[in-house]
Amino acid sequence: MKACYPGTFDPITLGHLDIIERAALIFDELDVLLMVNPRKKCVFDAAQRKAMIEASLASRENCRNVKVIIGEGLTVDFARKTGSKAIVRGIRAVTDYEYELQQATANLMLDPDVETMFLIAKPEYSFLSSSVVKEIALNDGDISKMVPAEVVDLVKEAMADKKDVLKG
Ligand code: ADP
Repeated sequence: MKACYPGTFDPITLGHLDIIERAALIFDELDVLLMVNPRKKCVFDAAQRKAMIEASLASRENCRNVKVIIGEGLTVDFARKTGSKAIVRGIRAVTDYEYELQQATANLMLDPDVETMFLIAKPEYSFLSSSVVKEIALNDGDISKMVPAEVVDLVKEAMADKKDVLKG
């Protein structure tokens, strides 16, 4: 069975990677769906975000069945078109739950044939978000335990480039 894991991944974190690895074990195929939403302001453009996810997966034997795809529009439309029977999402805390429940219910109304499946964040990643990573990198903090080793430098360099703009 095939599933997709949609997200913004601005940038990918170890929490995202853990969800990808666990979902890749459960499903035969997994599409990591990098959603482009013009209303969401991202620090990294879609090509940079895709390159970072691909760099993180490249050497992982357990992710051979994972593809990274840039998409826009409704996740259920993407799932239907590409043959995904499930949408995978991660839940870190109750604060994620309300939003995720709303999305999953809307998606179920749009297409009852596509199920949303939740994986609970590992405790060591339950505090971790792309925003936390960006804030720490912007202030020259250590992000090496927060993002995949393959992208630590990429994230640091990109944030250094954007520092002037972001710090105003
Ligand atoms: P979105 O804008 O769609 O929420 P994100 O890239 O922030 O995109 O997150 C994608 C999915 O991964 C969401 O379901 C989110 O709850 C989950 N997620 C984010 N960070 C973590 C983490 N540290 N551990 C587990 N799941 C996570």
